[in-house]
Parts: sequence; C-alpha cells; structure tokens
Amino acid sequence: MILPKTNRLTPEQLQEVTAIVAEFGCKIQPIIGAVRTIYAIVGDERDELMINRLEGLDYVDRIDRIQSPFKLMDKRSDLATHRIKLGGVVLGEELFVVAGACTIDPKNPNYFYETAHAVKEAGAHAIRGGVWKPRTNPYTFQGDTKSLDILMEASRRTGLPVDTEVMEEAHIKLALDAGVCCLQIGARNALNYSLLRAVGKAIAERDTAVLLKRSIHMGPISEFISAAEYIAAFGNPNVILCPRGTTPTIDGYRNHPDESITPLLKEKTWAPVVVDPSHSVGKAVYVPACALAAVAYGADGLCIEAHVEPAKGIGDDPKQALTPPVLAETIRQAKQLWELRRGGIQAKK
Ligand code: PEP
Ligand code: MN
Repeated sequence: MILPKTNRLTPEQLQEVTAIVAEFGCKIQPIIGAVRTIYAIVGDERDELMINRLEGLDYVDRIDRIQSPFKLMDKRSDLATHRIKLGGVVLGEELFVVAGACTIDPKNPNYFYETAHAVKEAGAHAIRGGVWKPRTNPYTFQGDTKSLDILMEASRRTGLPVDTEVMEEAHIKLALDAGVCCLQIGARNALNYSLLRAVGKAIAERDTAVLLKRSIHMGPISEFISAAEYIAAFGNPNVILCPRGTTPTIDGYRNHPDESITPLLKEKTWAPVVVDPSHSVGKAVYVPACALAAVAYGADGLCIEAHVEPAKGIGDDPKQALTPPVLAETIRQAKQLWELRRGGIQAKK
C-alpha cells in the first residue's frame, strides 16, 4: 500500500509508480477516499528492491505491507499445524525444558556427565552443552571439538537428546554426524545469513531441530521470524525461536530481558518459543524469576544453563548456571505455571 505525502498522486507520479511495480509483476489499484487516495500494490509485494525503490521516491510518505514477509513461518501458512517434537515432547503440548552447561570442559568431562544426570533428574527433556563457544573476548576459551564426544556420551548415558551451538559450516557436519538433535544458532550469528543457509541446507532432509537465538541487535519481531524463515525455506521447518535478552543492557542484568516479546511472536508465527532466561539476566539469582516470567508470557519452553558445581564451570557457568536443586524447583514451578496458563487465562483483545 503506497501512502503519498500529498492527498493524491499526480498523473505523472502514478505513471512512475505503476512502471516500477510492473517490473516486479505487480499492478496499482487506487483506493479513492473523500480526502485522500492511497494506492494498493496488487501482486506479490514482498520484493525488497521494489519496496526500496518506492520508498526512495520523494513524494511517497511510506509503504505499508499487507503481505507477510515470511510465507512459511507465518501463523496463516499451511505449516501452522506443523509440530516440532524434541526429547519426547511435542512443543506446545507440554512445557519443554533444555538445560545444561554453558560450556563443556574437555579436561573435566565428569562435570558434564554429572550435570547431564542432574538435568534429567530435575525434569528436563534435553541437554544443552557448548562444544564450540562464541565469546565476548576472542582470547578466552572458544571450545574444543573433543567436547563433542563428551556431549554425545552424556546423551547416551541419560538417553536425552542434545543441543549444541554451531558457529561455522564445519561444525554443522560434525554435529549432525555425531547425532546432535538440535543445532543452536547463537545470538552473535542469528543474522549470519550464510550460516543460516548452511544449516537450512544441511538439515533439509533430516528431522533435526534448530534453536535460533534472537540476535543482540535484532529490533523488529519480523526480523527474527524472517531469519527462521530463511532456515525453513530449505525444507525443514523445525525452527524454534529463542529470545535471550538483547541490547541495550539493563544495569544489573546482562542484557535487556525480552521474554515479553513472546506474545508478539505468537501473534505472527506458529513457531514454538523457547526462552533462554540465563543469558537474558546473566546471574543465577535472577534466572528463576525470568524463567517463570517467560512461561507467564506464553513460552513453550525454557533453555537454562545449569551445572553441578557452577563455580568450577568454564564459560558463563560460574555466574549464571543454576545448581541442580534450584533447577529442579524452577522446572517444577514453571510446569505448574504452564498448566495454569493452559487452563485458560486468555485475555480478550
Ligand atoms: C550459549 O547458549 O551459551 C550462548 C553463548 O548463547 P547466546 O548465543 O545467546 O549468547
Ligand atoms: Mn552461555
């Protein structure tokens, strides 16, 4: 929909916009009002270049798009009935929890094995563990491919599926060959379209899931859903959206907690939302409240960092991992809240 700066376009202006949209297979339909005339773009109006060219015209105030920029992930798409199953849970039918260490310590694998058992005991459905790690400071430990064996051994010992972050194309093949069920795309890479493309292609013929974190720099909700769409476009729609806090940070919290975007996501997409409260608030003491807030906002699941001995962990664990008893209590309360919400608190619009 083209909204001109003036009450209506001159015949020359109308001719110009008609010629532009025609290049993209669209037509213009004026909608004549008593005072103002606006101009509907009839056809597929999703081409960015067409929109950019129209927005570049000095007599155009703005373009309002009616069509969704994401065909597959849109709530109105045919895929809206698609369900993602992970760790024995159909997301949306039961609260899903993935928990575990931020970073696997390749020199002390027992911490990870013990954490994996504790996570299972606490009621989680899948284990998370960082093999390769993006870091705030590149000179800190960036992970070790050897940790992949530890991750898979923990999976065998507990019988739970695992989630790990992939940061480059080589990691994707290694993780998939090892049997990782859920590939995580981190906040630093959520806008790395070549990585999204590589993941999308690699999982096209599999039932692997992707946990897509929200980029620290993502603003509009549609930007997040479009990144998920880009992965799904290759054939596998098992993409889970993971808000994990964004910028600017709030003094005291690691990031700006963003679990409150869950209802906005759910209004636009059918994709499940699994919130990560750990990176959002960044301190173990705040994580349980943030986890419950996420469930209250409508999250389908939680991704929580946990460690049997946080102080001995590497990566984020010393500051933000929950101990097993706190994790167990958080999951217990979160499941109760999930049931309560499911019981029907449906606000009227
Ligand atoms: C993580 O999950 O440990 C991690 C690094 O997450 P994020 O990409 O959200 O910072
Ligand atoms: Mn972490």
